Amino acid sequence: MSFLEVLLSIAVLLLAVRLYVHRRYLRLMLDWISGPLDAPLPDADGVWGEFVSRMNSRLKFRMREKTELATALEQFRSAMEALPDGVIFMDTQRRILWMNQLAETLMFLSQNKDSGKPIEHMVREPEFVSYLQNADFSEPLMYHPTRRSEACYMVNVIDYGHERSLMTIRDLTQLEKLENVRRDFVANVSHELKTPLTVISGFIETLQSHHTILSEEKRQRYLDLAHSQAQQMNRLVQDLLTLSSLEASTAFADETDINLGSLAHDVLLATESLSAERHQISCDIPADLRIRGSASAMRSIIGNLANNAVNYTPHGGQVAIGWEDTPNGGCLYVRDTGIGISPTHLPRLTERFYRVDQGRSRDTGGTGLGLAIVKHALTKHQGHLTINSQPGGGSTFSACFPRQRISRITD
Ligand code: ADP
Repeated sequence: MSFLEVLLSIAVLLLAVRLYVHRRYLRLMLDWISGPLDAPLPDADGVWGEFVSRMNSRLKFRMREKTELATALEQFRSAMEALPDGVIFMDTQRRILWMNQLAETLMFLSQNKDSGKPIEHMVREPEFVSYLQNADFSEPLMYHPTRRSEACYMVNVIDYGHERSLMTIRDLTQLEKLENVRRDFVANVSHELKTPLTVISGFIETLQSHHTILSEEKRQRYLDLAHSQAQQMNRLVQDLLTLSSLEASTAFADETDINLGSLAHDVLLATESLSAERHQISCDIPADLRIRGSASAMRSIIGNLANNAVNYTPHGGQVAIGWEDTPNGGCLYVRDTGIGISPTHLPRLTERFYRVDQGRSRDTGGTGLGLAIVKHALTKHQGHLTINSQPGGGSTFSACFPRQRISRITD
């Protein structure tokens, strides 16, 4: 064999070895590519080692990008779930792409079952469907869903991106209820003020136009009647102010340990004068009892309950004010032998301006706000009002306080 032939044979051998090595790495790479996604790249040397290292850093970069994208998506979903509104993403044909859980609940939809379906096929509310068909979303839609007739929803549709739209659904039920309560309250107050005002204006007109022909006795009678109507207006305004100050703040600024027995005796002086000895009034509250709370609120509670007992108990009846301990604290009770209340009225008795008998309440100078004030004042002491009553069998109103507000002093 010549020298040239030897050189050639060595070169061929070296080439064959290199070819074999490349083939082996190629096979390893093909196996890796067809294997599981998370399989690590095989180890390699030389140019394949370089290839593997660059591939690894590229893969790491992609993995990081993927994780970041997944985190961003998760954050977006959590943000959508945290929204106080229902949210539905839709495509051009208003097919559902994704919605948050609140949207599922409010619209009676299911993410799993209803995705990909046109929303107007899934929410068959006539007002809702025609709002979507008119496609004028400059104003929101307000409607009462038939499956929850007491509810009120506000729907907005916002177009975004490339032919996509977003629907938001806000549950306005509570707001609407509050608005109704406010409207009723304003109407009631106006009505309550209008009645005595009309009477007073009538008397003033009569006195103006007939003052020469009216006898002194009649003139005095008209003035007395006008005065009593003005007092009624004054009581109403006082009660409204008490109610609004109770509603204004969450806690009392002037809390002290109140001697309930001595405070009740003070308040009862006014009740005794209201009764004018037509009733037998007794008060028995332990002298060592102390209640942590607001003295002015406590005065309102006792005063309103005791005055009601007198007002709704006929001549000769009894009114007893006392205290009883209960497992969770204790109750100040006001018991009367009066006309009593039918069970149908009991649940609404603490509503503002709710009266069993309008005429009787007005005759006694009632404003219809007394028990609403008592309830509010008790709530602010974490207490509550219980009522036991039988028509014709008298009533017991109990103002109950939690244990942590009650103490007994020791000498
Ligand atoms: P009012 O100013 O009309 O007395 P309240 O809020 O104090 O308003 O009471 C609401 C209604 O509850 C009264 O109009 C009356 O019909 C009824 N009521 C309250 N206390 C008594 C009671 N002790 N006996 C019978 N009915 C009562």
